[in-house]
Amino acid sequence: MSTLLQVKNLKTHFFSKNKVLPVVDGVDFEVKKGETLAIVGESGSGKSITSLSIMGLVPKPGGKTVDGEIIFDGTDLLQLSENEMFKVRGNEIAMIFQEPMTSLNPVLTIGEQITEVLIYHKKMSKKEARQKAVELLKIVGFARAEEILDDYPHRLSGGMRQRVMIAMAMSCDPKLLIADEPTTALDVTVQAQILELMKELSEKFDSSIILITHDLGVVAELADRVIVMYGGQVVEETGIVELFDNPLHPYSKGLLGSVP
Ligand code: ADP
Ligand code: MG
Repeated sequence: MSTLLQVKNLKTHFFSKNKVLPVVDGVDFEVKKGETLAIVGESGSGKSITSLSIMGLVPKPGGKTVDGEIIFDGTDLLQLSENEMFKVRGNEIAMIFQEPMTSLNPVLTIGEQITEVLIYHKKMSKKEARQKAVELLKIVGFARAEEILDDYPHRLSGGMRQRVMIAMAMSCDPKLLIADEPTTALDVTVQAQILELMKELSEKFDSSIILITHDLGVVAELADRVIVMYGGQVVEETGIVELFDNPLHPYSKGLLGSVP
């Protein structure tokens, strides 16, 4: 399998009251084409900031906050301009977040939000974009997709909103999908449905996936490999079977010890 993404010596920091606070502290990992890499680690270990770095979305108040290399399909994303990075986000890398309500725009209908992406990034006409939006909504499980198009986000349940987010993410036909705790805010039964959907889509679209989760059941079910983060560093990088059979780092051992 060839490599899609290489993260090398990634470091991020924030400025607070003239102090520099390191967050991600020299992270290295790679994602191969078509594979699902899970990132696990306790809250505050730097998982979200790592994924936001790949998306070019780490806030930059007070100066440069991300260092290292993020080589995606041969290009170092950290060397790209804001404008070029905007195109990467519309065409190559998509992300879904934990809380779908905050990532959907409350004043635009579902149809407007999905078609906006397609019209802007894929240069479709309004009519083509609407047809494609219906197609995408059907793929993510809305049987009567036409009816959802004119609804506003608040009319949908959490699980439905997350399906819409996944449809939006897939609308750019991404080479890489980053899912940051995509099911944490959902009911247990809905969680299982969303994960099943992500699995189906990754097979269908042949995308690579970075799946951030603290649910080891999900890791066992969906991932090919896993990295364990702790205190802003990668403390273990391994296959799924190896992690469950023989965790090496004390934090990974604790993590598995807490699984019944
Ligand atoms: P995780 O996703 O693993 O829970 P995060 O990547 O969100 O962790 O955060 C890592 C650390 O970075 C946390 O300790 C958090 O307090 C800090 N952090 C995140 N965003 C900011 C910010 N805008 N300013 C200062 N510190 C931040
Ligand atoms: Mg997080």
